[in-house]
Amino acid sequence: MATVYLGLGTNLGNKEANLRTAIYKLQERIGKQVSLSSFYETAPWGFESDHSFLNAAIGLETSLSPIEILHITQEIEKELGSYSDRLIDIDILLYDTLVLQTPELTIPHPLMTERDFVMKPLIEIAGNVIHPTREKTLSELYQG
Ligand code: ADP
Ligand code: MG
Repeated sequence: MATVYLGLGTNLGNKEANLRTAIYKLQERIGKQVSLSSFYETAPWGFESDHSFLNAAIGLETSLSPIEILHITQEIEKELGSYSDRLIDIDILLYDTLVLQTPELTIPHPLMTERDFVMKPLIEIAGNVIHPTREKTLSELYQG
């Protein structure tokens, strides 16, 4: 069994319902939920939008491989999406202490420590977890 931490973000429609639906599907298909952060309202990043985001982090116990998890999270993103919009973004942040770099998947997620909207929810549930390449706890990294 491995513990995987995922970051979730949504900025369209009923955002709380989007998170709840995604979380339900993740538990059904990836594994038992071991931790769930609060939901954080955050300003849009990287592009202009009138819609704020709702972000959360979740920890799951899983027997699946990282690539299997990626395919499931992409499937769930599709299921929640409408014709042109993606209602939810699900990123794989950490998978135990694994370090993985492939064209399809990089773990730990390369931008996670730079993003408030990822780190705030994540340290709530995994503050004492050590980042596998930076060799500090997530709380230490977030405080700088
Ligand atoms: P972002 O999450 O940065 O807004 P996307 O969700 O559109 O961007 O990017 C998805 C792509 O990122 C996918 O094609 C996937 O293969 C790749 N990717 C690489 N590493 C990860 C990871 N740790 N978690 C999720 N997707 C990843
Ligand atoms: Mg993504």
